Amino acid sequence: MCKVYLTVHRAASEIGGNCIEIATSRGERLILDVGKPLEGLLDCEVSLPGTLDLSTQVSGVLLTHAHQDHYGLLQSLPDDWPIYCGRATAKLIKLGFEIIHGPIERTFSTWQTSKPFDVGPFKVTPFLTDHSAFDAYMLLVEVDGKRILYSGDFRMHGRKAALVERLIRKPPSDINALVMEGTNLGREKVCKSEAELEEEFVQLFKRTSGRAFIAWSGQNVDRTVTLYRACLKAGRTLVVDIYTAEVLELLSEYGRIPQPGWPSLKVVVTKTLSSFYRHKGREQVTERMAKKGISAKKLAATPEKWVVMTRSSLIKDYIAAGVTPDSNDIWSWSMWPGYLNKPHGQEVKNWFEINKITSTHIHTSGHATPATLSEIARSINAKVLILVHGDAWKNEMKDMPPVTQVTNGVPFVI
Ligand SMILES: [Zn+2]
Ligand SMILES: [Zn+2]
Repeated sequence: MCKVYLTVHRAASEIGGNCIEIATSRGERLILDVGKPLEGLLDCEVSLPGTLDLSTQVSGVLLTHAHQDHYGLLQSLPDDWPIYCGRATAKLIKLGFEIIHGPIERTFSTWQTSKPFDVGPFKVTPFLTDHSAFDAYMLLVEVDGKRILYSGDFRMHGRKAALVERLIRKPPSDINALVMEGTNLGREKVCKSEAELEEEFVQLFKRTSGRAFIAWSGQNVDRTVTLYRACLKAGRTLVVDIYTAEVLELLSEYGRIPQPGWPSLKVVVTKTLSSFYRHKGREQVTERMAKKGISAKKLAATPEKWVVMTRSSLIKDYIAAGVTPDSNDIWSWSMWPGYLNKPHGQEVKNWFEINKITSTHIHTSGHATPATLSEIARSINAKVLILVHGDAWKNEMKDMPPVTQVTNGVPFVI
């Protein structure tokens, strides 16, 4: 009788760096995610887990979403390993590589949500889900009579929460193993919804007489939409950098996503980012954005009008343009608070602290709350529950079915 093995090569007890393998005893293999560990995101020396065998072919590599901790080691894979992911995810990954390293040569086969497809002997069904990355998926993998559901990263308080609610109401049946992310497990965590955040931003913008400087990730499209909607309600204009504008343009075909050129949205064209783009041979992007853009100098006048994207790479150009925060302005860190301790976060924080600017941090997690995780696990009711992408497994997990703890690199028979 053929056996099915599941090996978590990395992320069995850490947040990020996911690399999971499903293999048959005939030697057919499928890889789920090839992420960089979070601690090594900026480190070029980080390598694939040593237990991942690169000497024999795989049927395919499936990437759940365009976060580095899920695809960042893609270029370390053999050139002939076939890559699969969502259409928008492929675009975002290509853009990420193009900006940081240079164009990527690989081809990506893309899938559609809820449409099953075959990868060698593996039948794969992707399910679009709610996460801070755009176009994130859960994956159902069927092989040799076994059904494995891999959650990727997800939450149920973003703008696509309905997808996860539907999954809870109508879970896939007869799941042998649920491999679920547990970033927020073992922590006391209640998360606000993006809709609640939107309301908080509206109030913040209304009670501020000057500019609102907001630091958020240009890839977090849910948050860009939240801020844009809050601007419309508060009568302000959202100012994004060239990179964020490019992400919005790239995703325009996938929904009603705010675009450069729309009312109440402006692209700030700054010197440092423009010369970085030129250096990468991407000056045509800057030129295109400049047509819909404003210079940083504009932000010095009519301060009550602007909600300004803030990141360390923009600060120097803001200062040169006479844009220095004053006592009428506020700032908000709308990202994971842990990033505030990193050099880029520190730089942003210092800029506001030396200018004695009030901070109001408004953010919500990109990952499911402990309550959502237990709800999903109980609804799926898999024979085996394996947690990944978390590090607090020893803490109490309320209402969670029994968990099978696995070790990095050690195969587990499903
Ligand atoms: Zn992740
Ligand atoms: Zn993620």
